[in-house]
Order: sequence, then structure tokens, then C-alpha cells
Amino acid sequence: MKIVITGGAGFIGSNLARALTRHPKVGEVHIIDNLATGYKDNLTDLPAHFYEGDVQDPGLLDEALSGADAVVHLAALPSVPRSLKDPLATHHANATGTLQVLEAARRAGNLHVIAASSSSVYGATPNLPKHENLPSAPLSPYAVSKLATEAYLGSYHHSFGLPVLPFRFFNVYGPGQRADHPYAAVIPKWISAALAGRPVPLHGDGAQTRDFTYVGTVCDVLVDAALRRVTSFRPMNLAFGTRVSLRELLAEIEIATGCRTTAHHLAPRAGDVRHSQASSERLRTAFPNVGCVPLREGVQVTAEWLRGTGR
Ligand code: NAD
Repeated sequence: MKIVITGGAGFIGSNLARALTRHPKVGEVHIIDNLATGYKDNLTDLPAHFYEGDVQDPGLLDEALSGADAVVHLAALPSVPRSLKDPLATHHANATGTLQVLEAARRAGNLHVIAASSSSVYGATPNLPKHENLPSAPLSPYAVSKLATEAYLGSYHHSFGLPVLPFRFFNVYGPGQRADHPYAAVIPKWISAALAGRPVPLHGDGAQTRDFTYVGTVCDVLVDAALRRVTSFRPMNLAFGTRVSLRELLAEIEIATGCRTTAHHLAPRAGDVRHSQASSERLRTAFPNVGCVPLREGVQVTAEWLRGTGR
């Protein structure tokens, strides 16, 4: 099998590339990434073909997708705050980029396209857990770009018969997720602060909740989806319904690092949702063999990685 990963030099993409290159049923892994937020050194020693370039380049997509069996489309400018700062850049990379990938998949003979949407599409919807039939109410340009991503996949299924699978990732964390940039996610940012003895920046009161998913679990689902060619034109949550408050997360980080922390209190962030928890019913039915790594174990492994790299 030949599988193409867009955004493969990023956090989730490079973990997926590692998992796929080790899989006996996968012969070739090809990666497209413009290194906007990814790092080439994430791919050091991986037997994968790397194309440095943009998913908005049809010629590059045609070259990479030629003879492929599936595309896992992860390329995007992530982060809600980044999209508030530059909504157009987010739209071009995430929405237009997805459209270009779908067009290329069509030209390549209707390839299987698995893509990353986000729990942010639920936005202001107050219901918990978030099940896929709830209306979407995006609060940020990033969330809108992800709604466009999943809607484009659905429309290409209906219009052109493209086999697709849009996943709604929740908060993914694990080794490879760096703390050393302005849009760092909460887990690496807090672990890194704890290890360095700095106060952890806490937006809001810390009672907001998130459904964290370990990156290895996300990759297990993505690999299984590509190999078994799982399709669904309706988006599917990729999280297991485990919900913790940020204060509980901080306690886990103290256990994992062995460091006491102090919080640096900041105003709540614009565009952030208050509570997040996935309904995992559809995921568990479609992927009965994938289990989820518990938060304590995942945070421990992540802390060890951050301690080792100093990132
Ligand atoms: P990441 O920033 O580490 O990875 C994204 C990758 O896409 C980077 O390597 C970046 O260089 C590349 N990229 C960006 N724009 C590109 C373009 N125009 N052309 C080619 N490559 C481009 O982020 P991640 O956390 O690994 O996220 C992967 C995907 O999952 C993204 O689509 C993101 O929106 C989605 N997602 C992530 C989370 C999470 O918690 N990490 C949650 C929800 C959704």
C-alpha cells in the first residue's frame, strides 16, 4: 500500500508516519508539508518520501498522489488564536488546501481521503457529550475552516462518489508536540513550565474541561481506517469521552513531573469553548479494536519526551 500524509512533518503527522512506516502492510509513505508549523527533523531516519511544498499546489499533489491508495490529510494551520490573528491565512491553508487535496484525489482515480476536522466545530453548542448530530456553532475562524474541511469531504462523497472519512479530533497530545512556540497546546506548555520551575499560564478559572486523546491512540485509529478503508460521509468524533478540567490536568502534570506548580492567572481566551467531551459511540463501533491510552500514562510519556528534548 502507498499512503500519502499531508502535514506529515507536524506533530500528529510525524507520529502517523512512524506508525505507517513500521506497518507490514504499508509499502510506501509519502509526505507533503510546507513546514509552516512542522519540522523536517521530526522525520529524521524515517523511510518516507518527503515533498516540501504547499497542499495548494496541484502539480505537487498530483506527483505525490500518483499510484497512492489513500491520503491522510492533516495539513492545516492549527490553533484558534492564530486564526484570530490571521483569518485569511487559516482559510487558505485549511479550507482551500482541503479543496485542492480533494480535487487531486479525484484526478488520481477517487482515492480514499481521511481528513482532520476538529471538535471546535461544536463551538457554542452547550450539550455534553458532543455527539455528531448536534448542530455546529463555530466560534472562531479556525473552527469555520474545519467545518469547511468536513463539509467539503461530505460534498465530494455525494457529488463525485469519493470515499471519505472526516474525523473530528479533540485535544490531541503526546511526544512530538512542542512547547517552544507561541501557539503551543496546553499540555506541552504546562509540562515545560513545570519542569523549568516557571508558573503555568492559566486562562480563565481552570474549571473548563477538555477531552484529551493520546497521539498514539489517534494514530492507531488513522492506520486502521486507512488499512480497512473505513468510509463515512458524516464526520466522526475521534476521542473517547474522557473529560477532565484544566485543574485536574495540572494535578496530573504535577504527578508526572514530580514538580509543584503555581498558576499565572490570565483572562479567558477569545474563541475558546467552555466544555468539551466527545460522544465516542460511533468511533467505538467503527473501530472496536482500538483502545485509548489513559491520561496519566500519556502525560507521563509526554513529560519524559519533553524532559529529554528540552522543547
Ligand atoms: P501541526 O501544526 O503540528 O501539523 C500541521 C502540519 O501541516 C505542519 O507540519 C505544517 O507545516 C503543515 N502545513 C500547514 N499548512 C500547510 C500547507 N498549506 N501545505 C502543506 N503543509 C502545511 O498540527 P497537528 O497538531 O499535528 O495537527 C494536525 C491536524 O489535526 C491539523 O489539521 C489540525 O487542525 C488537526 N487537529 C489537531 C488537534 C490537536 O489537538 N493537535 C485538534 C483538532 C484538530
